[in-house]
Amino acid sequence: MMEDKEQSLTPLEHFGEFKLIKHLTDSFEIQNESTIKGIGDDAAVLNYKDMQTLVSTDLMVEGIHFNLAYTPLKHLGYKSVIINLSDIYAMNARPEQLLVSIAASNRFPVEALEELYEGIKIACKKYNVDLVGGDTTSSTSGLTLSVTAIGTASKDDLVYRNGAAEKDLLVVSGDLGGAYLGLQVLERENEVFKVNPNMQPDLVPYDYIVGRQLKPEARKDIFELLKKLQVKPTSMIDVSDGLSSEVIHLSKHSGMGFRIYEEKIPLDPMVIRTADEFGINPVTCALNGGEDYELLFTIAQSDFEKIKGNPHLTVIGHATEKQDGNYLLLKDSDAAVELTAQGWDSFEK
Ligand code: ADP
Ligand code: MG
Repeated sequence: MMEDKEQSLTPLEHFGEFKLIKHLTDSFEIQNESTIKGIGDDAAVLNYKDMQTLVSTDLMVEGIHFNLAYTPLKHLGYKSVIINLSDIYAMNARPEQLLVSIAASNRFPVEALEELYEGIKIACKKYNVDLVGGDTTSSTSGLTLSVTAIGTASKDDLVYRNGAAEKDLLVVSGDLGGAYLGLQVLERENEVFKVNPNMQPDLVPYDYIVGRQLKPEARKDIFELLKKLQVKPTSMIDVSDGLSSEVIHLSKHSGMGFRIYEEKIPLDPMVIRTADEFGINPVTCALNGGEDYELLFTIAQSDFEKIKGNPHLTVIGHATEKQDGNYLLLKDSDAAVELTAQGWDSFEK
């Protein structure tokens, strides 16, 4: 059975570069007026009229950023888009176009790339972005994927990392630490599987956090919510490397210190339960984990009433004078722990 299936797979050479690109991208539809020319010429042509243009790119390398033992290619395609869209939303801007470049070894049949592009297509539809180009080449080993997102915003709407002012409130969307713990579960099950390939992992008890790892979302809804509430953050960043590291970025760029409160950090019950199972502090997962792709931003105190009680937003702290540094105030004591991009583990209970 397996052999039959393998024989029916199509080697990449079968198509040749031009036909392969057409095969993979033909069913993508253009959704934005700003896309004048998409795939098919020497370059894409875009028209943003008097808007500012934003560009952000990410490179994903097999064995470094993803493990195909437990990452379905469809999910990988989806996630590679999401992590780029998240960067555009973090500027309070709207993503509209994408470029996708891939280098694949002959280990990957056409069907594998079809799956990858299926995930990319689902993300494009859901987030209203147009795939307008890329590049395709072979590689001697593994899969490398580079995605570039292009977005737009009016000059007045743009939010940088550098605008936080003293006493501004620090707000985060959603909850944190899930993607990191999802990865721990997948790694653990993969090790079990390597020893005993007949063992099928039961991931149902971990569905939320495994989903956070394999199929993250970009917070388009928060970008839209803030517009609706007429709240313009004073500074913003997306949480890709862990809360601690992102707070330090806002601090450095804005020239402010930050105080965050341990009891305020939003944690899903599954995050707390799974952290406990792994013998780690869930707050450590939120601070030093990563890949949550939530939005972290500051707002003026006068905007607090507008966001108060919103279930998607949590005030976790505030900005202070720069010389006060960046600290986590602990729940069960008067102690405060200085935030560091790494090495915060020393606080481990
Ligand atoms: P060139 O030789 O000028 O680099 P290509 O043959 O690589 O042109 O690409 C032809 C068209 O297909 C271009 O519009 C390019 O942006 C697009 N394209 C190439 N590879 C990809 C890809 N992996 N995904 C999406 N579009 C692609
Ligand atoms: Mg090319």
